[in-house]
Amino acid sequence: MTPREGPENPTTAAAHEREIVGCNLCSADDPDHVLSVADDWLGHFGGTFPLVRCRACGLCYLRERPTSQALVNAYASEQMQRSIDHRADPLSERLFWVRAWLRRRELERWVRPGYVLDVGCGGGEFLAVLAAGGWEVAGTEVDGRRVVDAERRLGPVVRRTPLERAGFSEGSFDAVTLWHVLEHVPDPLATLKLAIRLVRPGGVLAVATPNVESLEARAFGINWSGLVAPWHLYYFSPDTLGRMVHLAGGEVLALSEPIAYYSLLQSFAHARRRRQARGVAAVRLAVPFVGRILGLLALDRRWRGPSVTLYARQPATKKGLPHGAAGLLERR
Ligand SMILES: [Zn+2]
Repeated sequence: MTPREGPENPTTAAAHEREIVGCNLCSADDPDHVLSVADDWLGHFGGTFPLVRCRACGLCYLRERPTSQALVNAYASEQMQRSIDHRADPLSERLFWVRAWLRRRELERWVRPGYVLDVGCGGGEFLAVLAAGGWEVAGTEVDGRRVVDAERRLGPVVRRTPLERAGFSEGSFDAVTLWHVLEHVPDPLATLKLAIRLVRPGGVLAVATPNVESLEARAFGINWSGLVAPWHLYYFSPDTLGRMVHLAGGEVLALSEPIAYYSLLQSFAHARRRRQARGVAAVRLAVPFVGRILGLLALDRRWRGPSVTLYARQPATKKGLPHGAAGLLERR
C-alpha cells in the first residue's frame, strides 16, 4: 500500500470502534510496546495505534486496532477508493509489471504451470502475466472496482469475496499466492491455514509481506513505508512468517528478503510528508543512484530488503478434516 498525501476526512463513530487482540502466532498476551503509530496515511480513523512485539514469540502487531467491520467499511469508503484510483507514476507502473514477471519466474522454480489462485488479486495484473505463461488462473478480491478491472483482463475468474467465503475445494490448486495481503487480514494464521489446505499435495504457497527487520525499517523507523497503521495490522520478519506458515501446515522451502527500489522512494516520501527529516528533497534526488547501488547489493543475500518472500510446499493431504470454510477456519 502506498502512503499518499490526502485531505483529512471527518471520522465517523464506526471508524472509532476498536478492539484489543493477543498474539496471532502463539496466543500469548504479553506484549512489549515498540511505537505509537499515527493514522496519517488517509486519516480515516484518526489517533494513534500501538505497535507491539510479543515477548513470547517476537511477532509484531497492532495490539489495539479498528474492529474488522470498521476496517471493511474503511476499505469500501470513497476516501480509500480515491486513493486507489490515483494513477501511479509511469516508473512504478513499469516496475509493477517487471515485478509480476519476476514473481512468475520465481514461482515456476518451485512448481510447473497449472491452476493458480491469487488471493487479493487486485486488477488481475499478476494473474495476467501467469495466464500468458500457460497457467489457468483464479482470484479473490474484495474491492468491486478492481474485480471489474480483473474481469476485463481475464474474464470471469475472480470471486468478489474474502478467501474464507470463496468456497474453493481443498487441494484444488497447484499454487496459491498472497502478495502483500497477509499484513492486512485480521487473523493471518487462519488465512494461511486455509490457503495451504487449498493447495494440492506437492503444490506451493507463495507469500510476500513487509519485513519489519529490514535495513530500511531500522533506518527509517517511524517513517518506514511498511509502517501503515491501522491498514497494516501485522509486521512480520522472516522468522515469524516462517514459523506461522509452519504452524499453519506448510513446509517452508525458501525465505528471502528482496530489495525493493520503490519501497525506498516511499519511505523518503513518508519522511517528507511527516516533515521529520531534514534535506529530504536533496536526498530524494540521489535516490535513483542509490537505487542502482541497492540493485547491485541485492545480489548479496546478506542484504535485508524491505519485504519477506516465502515459498512453502503443501506436504500431504490431511485426512478427516471437515470440508467447507467453517471447518477450514477452525483456530488451533
Ligand atoms: Zn507471540
